[in-house]
Amino acid sequence: MTNKQKQLIDAYQEMHSMTLPECECTCRVPYSCCDPMACEMAIRHAKESWGITLEHTGHPRLPLMEEGRGCIAEPHLRPNCTVHTCQINSFGYKPNDPDWTGRYFLLREQIEDLEMKVLAEREGVEDDAEDDNGTPGDDSSGSGEEG
Ligand code: SF4
Ligand code: SF4
Repeated sequence: MTNKQKQLIDAYQEMHSMTLPECECTCRVPYSCCDPMACEMAIRHAKESWGITLEHTGHPRLPLMEEGRGCIAEPHLRPNCTVHTCQINSFGYKPNDPDWTGRYFLLREQIEDLEMKVLAEREGVEDDAEDDNGTPGDDSSGSGEEG
């Protein structure tokens, strides 16, 4: 795994730690925003971008949902879900909290930048790709799927 990949995983984890409390505090129907298509997109993204196979959980509606546990995909494997909150989706900001909104969009910018750099590494178009193992673009050592 490269340094950029680690930074990207950390950035998604930080985003998760920002968005999860928004849902925990305000959601009337938890996971009501979840959609089977979003799960399938995450499954495809995990495989194509990280070399990780996410197995269906057997949940009756959502392939990556597990009863009593929640979503089994790590935040970086389901990017669209990780950055999603109802307020950002509805208003484009968090009402009455400009600090949170500012941090959110700064982090999104960082994530987008890192996504581009990780993609460039993977495609071998960045000369100075950093790699702990000395193998540019090696994404086969993902931490493995949760679950
Ligand atoms: S994004 Fe909205 S609907 Fe989805 S879990 Fe969070 S608060 Fe609930
Ligand atoms: S990937 Fe996870 S968070 Fe996203 S829709 Fe599926 S169960 Fe919900």
